[in-house]
Amino acid sequence: MDIKECKFETIAVHAGVQPDPTTGAIMTPIYATSTYVQSTPGEHKGYDYSRTANPTRTALEASIAGLESGKHCLALSSGCTGTDILCHFLEAGDHVVSVDDVYGGTSRLFRTVWARHGVETTFADLVNHNLSDYVRPNTKMIWIETPTNPLLKIIDIEKVVQQAHKLSPKPIVVVDNTFASPYFQSPLALGADVVLHSTTKYLNGHSDVVGGALVFNDDNLKAKLHHIQNSIGGVPGPFDAWLVLRGIKTLALRMKRHEENAKVLAEMLERHPKVERVIYPGLKSHPQHDVAKRQMKGFGGMITFFLKGNLATSRNFLERVRLFALAESLGGVESLIEHPAIMTHASIPAETRVKLGISDTLIRISVGIENVQDLQRDLELALG
Ligand SMILES: *Cc1c(COP(=O)(O)O)cnc(C)c1O
Repeated sequence: MDIKECKFETIAVHAGVQPDPTTGAIMTPIYATSTYVQSTPGEHKGYDYSRTANPTRTALEASIAGLESGKHCLALSSGCTGTDILCHFLEAGDHVVSVDDVYGGTSRLFRTVWARHGVETTFADLVNHNLSDYVRPNTKMIWIETPTNPLLKIIDIEKVVQQAHKLSPKPIVVVDNTFASPYFQSPLALGADVVLHSTTKYLNGHSDVVGGALVFNDDNLKAKLHHIQNSIGGVPGPFDAWLVLRGIKTLALRMKRHEENAKVLAEMLERHPKVERVIYPGLKSHPQHDVAKRQMKGFGGMITFFLKGNLATSRNFLERVRLFALAESLGGVESLIEHPAIMTHASIPAETRVKLGISDTLIRISVGIENVQDLQRDLELALG
C-alpha cells in the first residue's frame, strides 16, 4: 500500500522511515558523520558531505513532506532559517507583504536584517483588507501566518492565494503553519507555494530541539532553495533531525489532545469573571470562527486572553500558576504560559504592539497534554 494513500496518523508514523538496509534496525539511525567515502572520485551512494545532505535528515524531510502532502522538504537548523532562506531568494529592491500580527522573530528579520539589504516589508491587516491594498509592482513574496501570534487572527489562505496568483509577476505565497500544525491545516492544498514550520514547536513536540522546515511542490524552487541552504548552511545536526522524526510519530495523538484540552480551558476562561476576553479560533465569539471552521480541521492548542486589570494583575497571575510554566515557545507536551508584550513580542516596537492590541493584560497559553482538570484548577487558583 502506497503511504501517500494513507491517512494522517499512518503517514506520521511511517513516511520517510524504512528499516536500515544493513542491519534491519527499525528506527532510523543517527548518522553522525560529516563525510562519506567514495569508490572512485565523484562516485558515491547519494551523500558526499553532510551540509549538502545527511541520511537522518533525508528521512525527516520525507516525513515532513508527507505530513504536508508536499513533494519537497528542506529540514533546517531553525524556523528562522527558513524565513531567512526565503528572503535570500529575493533581491535588493524587492518588496514583501507580511501579515501584521506575525511571529516576533519573523518581523525582526524583515525589519532589522533584510531591510538593510534593500528588501522592504509592508505589514498588512489581511483580515480587514484585501491584498491589493498593499501590493506593489515589485512585490515578490506574500507572508501569511495563521492563526497569527499572539492574537490568533485567522487569515483566509485561499482568498489571499487567489489574489496573489492573479498578480504579474506572480509573488510566492508562504504560509507559516507552525501554530496549526499539518494535523489541522494544509496550506499547500489551499494553493500556497511554500509552507514554513518551526519544528521546535508542535512537530517535535517535546521542547528539546530548535529546528525548522520548508515544504513545497515546485521542482525549480527545490533546486533554488536547496542551493541557498547548501551555500549558507543552516542545517540541523543528525541528532536534532532524529529527535524531530521521533516526535512526529505521535503528532496526531498530541494535537488531538492539545485541542481537546484547549477547548475546555477556552470555555472556562470565557466564563471567568476575572477574564476580560478570550481569543480561541474554536469559540463562536472569535471574529473569524467561520473562516477557521472552513480552512482548519480543528482549532489547535493555543489560547490568548486578556485579564481585567493592569500589568501588576498579569504579573501576579503569572507568578501564581504552578503547572503552567512561565516560558517562551509553545507546542510541547507540557503547558506553557507567557506575557507576549514583555517576552515573545518584546522585539516589536512598542507603538506597533499597542496598535495591534498586544497589551499588558494579554496572556498567551500553549495548552499541553496533561489532565485538563488539573490544568483548569491551576488557572482557577492563580486567577484567585
Ligand atoms: C517559533 C516560531 C518561529 C521561529 O522558529 P524558531 O525555530 O524559533 O527559529 C516562526 N514562526 C512561528 C509561528 C513560531 O512560533
